[in-house]
Amino acid sequence: MNNEPNAPVTIIGLGLMGQALAGAFLKAGHPTTVWNRTASKADRLVAEGAHLAPTVGDALTAGSLTIICVTDYQAVRELLGASDVALDGTMLVNLTSGNSAQAREAARWAEQRGARYLDGAVMAVPPVIGTAEAVILHSGPQSDFEAHRSTLDVLGTATYLGADHGLASLYDVAGLAMMWSVLNAWLQGTAMLRTAGVDASTYAPFARQIAAGVAEWLPGYAAQIDSGSFPAEVSALETDARAMVHLIEESEALGVNAELPRLFKAMADRAIAAGHGGEQYPVLIEEFGKAGDR
Ligand code: NAP
Repeated sequence: MNNEPNAPVTIIGLGLMGQALAGAFLKAGHPTTVWNRTASKADRLVAEGAHLAPTVGDALTAGSLTIICVTDYQAVRELLGASDVALDGTMLVNLTSGNSAQAREAARWAEQRGARYLDGAVMAVPPVIGTAEAVILHSGPQSDFEAHRSTLDVLGTATYLGADHGLASLYDVAGLAMMWSVLNAWLQGTAMLRTAGVDASTYAPFARQIAAGVAEWLPGYAAQIDSGSFPAEVSALETDARAMVHLIEESEALGVNAELPRLFKAMADRAIAAGHGGEQYPVLIEEFGKAGDR
């Protein structure tokens, strides 16, 4: 039943994401059972051939694989912890967003109740679900992932990260750090350029090119971090720190927000004070590895 092209699946939670997940399974021909707290959100899917289960317990018994995708882990626990819900023998894939501690705790909780459990994170928006562009991360027992890989692949590019249930959430939040850092850096530059009458659309292609160029540095810099050795092959951190002063001074002179550049500089200054000024930028990993101010 597992990797068969017609394996029955269940989706619990029909918000924007859950509806997209169920829609992709229906399109691929999987018998699809759905359940949502607000039942009317199932109407379109039922018209397309989904079966609406009357209760969560019924939904769980209908599929060889159950995907749950609701707002948060608390909602997962409320739904699956109800007294009329039996998890014994079920295969759960929880695509609800959260943090790694919540994922590990949910895994323990579900496994104690006899379920097999994979945690997951959707690195995509609903419109691309069902295409290869939709990367969906999974962590937990590899044998469970492999047993359902082709079914999970219907939703996008199913990617397995490792046995630690927390990994999918960790990658997910690490990705958020990347996303907001790039966006904030772009907004900083855009705010500065707008003072000279350059609009956001004019700057965006330049910013995109810079972001793509910097992304090319990552494998080499990662090798430095992994080896713990940071020779200044391109530039030394103290050179970068001097350029940060230009960014701060320019921002202040233009009257735009300089908090982000000051944060860059404060971290670089600490690393320089610790004796790393002659090393290359990724030596800052040592600052990022500390708890810092709370
Ligand atoms: P959404 O449209 O707001 O839907 C939330 C879903 O959770 C609804 O089905 C809602 O039921 C259900 N729910 C919330 N609290 C509940 C409770 N206490 N009991 C039962 N059901 C409950 O959110 P979404 O966009 O589908 O997102 C779902 C998950 O996917 C989130 O963890 C989100 O971070 C993640 N995600 C979303 C996107 C995206 O672009 N949308 C991308 C990546 C990841 P009702 O319909 O009855 O309210």
